[in-house]
Amino acid sequence: MRAASVQRTGGPEVLEVRDVPDPHPGPGQLVVEVDAAGVNFIDTYQRSGVYPVQPPFGVGLEGAGRVVEVGDGVGEDLGPGRLVAWKQAPGSCAERVLVEAAEAVPVPDGVDAETAAALMLQGLTAQYLCSATYAVRPGDAVVVHAAAGGVGLLLTQMVVLRGGRVLATTSTPEKAELARAAGADEVLAYEGFAARARELTDGEGVAAVFDGVGRATFAEGLDALRPRGVMVLFGGASGQVEPLDVQDLNAKGSLYVTRPSLAAYTRTRAELEERAEQVLGWAATGALDVRVGGRYDLDDVARAHEDLEARRTTGKLLVLPGG
Ligand code: NDP
Repeated sequence: MRAASVQRTGGPEVLEVRDVPDPHPGPGQLVVEVDAAGVNFIDTYQRSGVYPVQPPFGVGLEGAGRVVEVGDGVGEDLGPGRLVAWKQAPGSCAERVLVEAAEAVPVPDGVDAETAAALMLQGLTAQYLCSATYAVRPGDAVVVHAAAGGVGLLLTQMVVLRGGRVLATTSTPEKAELARAAGADEVLAYEGFAARARELTDGEGVAAVFDGVGRATFAEGLDALRPRGVMVLFGGASGQVEPLDVQDLNAKGSLYVTRPSLAAYTRTRAELEERAEQVLGWAATGALDVRVGGRYDLDDVARAHEDLEARRTTGKLLVLPGG
């Protein structure tokens, strides 16, 4: 089979698509023919070495496809022929991938493979951020950075589903339009966003800032928060944030800062299933609009990384190994 891999860390040029042996399942594992693999910013952190993974390694974490073979102890709901999805199976940008049964969830009727692949990592992230990290309440105003991105478009919709008011940031008018269509109340430029967010909340500040941009926005975001507001730093698309002097949190109004990860919010099988069922359920009923902003052949995975890092993309990027 063919698979994308990183032999040494670096820029998108280090991504290679090679012929490799087909995987075979051990106990508690599935082999899946990948219909769609999700591309995520975390793939670029692993490729470049920002998140250390020892090369060589298979590219891609998330995806959906049909089960072709299972090892001992795998339940009927994940059996051969079933459409399943997962957020974490290293090497998902490949024709086939080995998935731990503990990671795989059955895709419900009414949801296709592309939509499922688009939701497992970014969708579950958006879900835990606004329901658990800071549980948005009706009437809360929150800032969502990069609101036209993969996480951003989903998070904006989910905050609105919870009755919150989204003050979005985006870098272009086209992206602003998408954020508005997803339900954002206001779209702000990055420059001066904190002052603008204060104006839009009558000087009070927002309940939470959801920040996946990181270095370029974090410090200013603290000034957008109301007293006892919550800074949810969940990524660093612009680079990693400098160390913080915690004394600043006192001076700025008893603020909270958290740096959450999806792994910590899907620690048990029950938690993974609950979040996945909710998110895939919203897709099935149409409550959530899933925008696929780009589809790439397996051979073009480097271009997907380039586009993502160059801020050229919106919504979800998918690699379709079957073409
Ligand atoms: P996106 O589709 O959101 O792409 C990143 C976006 O960030 C860009 O489109 C761009 O939007 C914005 N951005 C701002 N500054 C930069 C910059 N200097 N370089 C590149 N992009 C920039 O990606 P994802 O949805 O995959 O991920 C969004 C964030 O969420 C990432 O930080 C990722 O690491 C994080 N994440 C965290 C998880 C967690 O559990 N902690 C899980 C999943 C993702 P614009 O042009 O509008 O500014």
